[in-house]
Amino acid sequence: METLVLDKTQDEARQGEAYAAALADDMVAHKHFYIESYGCAMNFADSEVVASILQEHGYGATTQTELADLILINTCSIREKAEQTVRKRLTEFKQFKKAKPDMIIGVLGCMAERLKAKFLEEEKLVDIVVGPDAYRALPSLIEEANGGQKAVNVLLSRDETYADIAPIRLNSNGVTAFVSIMRGCNNMCSFCVVPFTRGRERSRDAYSIVKECEALFNDGYREVTLLGQNVDSYHFIDDTKDVIISFAKLMEMVAQISPLLRVRFSTSHPKDITDEVLFTMQQYENICNYIHLPVQSGSSRVLQMMNRTYSREWYIAKVNRIRELLPDCGLSTDMITGFCTETEEDHQESLSLMEHCKFELAYMYFYSERPGTLAARRFEDDVPLETKKRRLHEMVALHRIHSLQGMQKEVGKTFKVLVEGVSKKSEDELYGRSDQNKVVVFPKENFKKGDYVMVKVNTCTAGTLIGKAVK
Ligand code: SF4
Repeated sequence: METLVLDKTQDEARQGEAYAAALADDMVAHKHFYIESYGCAMNFADSEVVASILQEHGYGATTQTELADLILINTCSIREKAEQTVRKRLTEFKQFKKAKPDMIIGVLGCMAERLKAKFLEEEKLVDIVVGPDAYRALPSLIEEANGGQKAVNVLLSRDETYADIAPIRLNSNGVTAFVSIMRGCNNMCSFCVVPFTRGRERSRDAYSIVKECEALFNDGYREVTLLGQNVDSYHFIDDTKDVIISFAKLMEMVAQISPLLRVRFSTSHPKDITDEVLFTMQQYENICNYIHLPVQSGSSRVLQMMNRTYSREWYIAKVNRIRELLPDCGLSTDMITGFCTETEEDHQESLSLMEHCKFELAYMYFYSERPGTLAARRFEDDVPLETKKRRLHEMVALHRIHSLQGMQKEVGKTFKVLVEGVSKKSEDELYGRSDQNKVVVFPKENFKKGDYVMVKVNTCTAGTLIGKAVK
């Protein structure tokens, strides 16, 4: 599955860390839940829906596992390693269950959907298993578990979008928020579990999305990221007006809420991204010039085996078109090395494509066979692990050069930065991101979170632009 972008700062803040950290302990409620999330931004957004459903049923949040009556892990199944991380975390929860035998432990998300009831056999500690489309059933599943039963609901839906549920912002900086616009994926990339763990594509009611973004803006948020596995296939039919709302139209509706509300989106698909989307980005200054466009491989032969439905040439033409219409657009991607039958030539094609595109940011992994996927059923995972690692190492090394060049070319320029918080390195400095999603750090002066500040960049590191506010 593509990485639904969490940039480094957010990634570091969230991955594996007790996600509930920033949740203010809600001591009013008499029952408490603790939730921890792994994987992509979609999972983090889902945990905010889960928090809302639980609050609706009298649960308050806690950041302290030992105080929780209910512990939930929102799991990722994208690679074997992600599942191992969850299993290890579950063993760490054993002590809490020992101390509090009536505590309920539940697993949510893609690994829950992939394993279903088998999860209960493999992990005895677990009481409830809930798939991504079944979170409304959580209260009744908890009741069953409180009655001493193990409970499972992994039904995938063709229309569930949780559109009517106002998410509770977890770990929020009060400035940026994720808003999911669709669920599931109709593509069948041969290496990917998502179509099996998140089901068929369905687009959320466009007006409920605009309403959620308006509420966020009124609450002081200044940036929304519209989330979907493949946002370009967003497609909402408004029967009342007999119109079809495309992704470009939806972006425009959100951008029109206020010029002070920045709009980002993730993830795009090379076969579906349209000129209409690029023209809409041109038209609205508050739609950020940044696109996450996973390519996965630079070899057309491998792309065909991956069932990505586009060729190397098609992808490069898309990048050239983006650069033609949005010259300073930031571009990031996902790459997989060592996919079944990948040759040295294929690998060199991936490197040369990266050389052409010079991505600002890239999420790079070696192929991890996922049970039940098309690739697992059809192809042998025949590239030796050592070769996979060596190719990944070469890819990362090349990307490091490109991302540093991408940072260095910004020195001397001035960017509009949305302040997200105090820099980790110094209380006297603030950090935020530029339009192109680059992290910028500058002296605090009288600025604060949520402000837009024009910052002139004086120098940079591999991951951060360093500057000073200019009037
Ligand atoms: S587009 Fe492909 S890789 Fe992305 S979620 Fe869908 S099936 Fe997975």
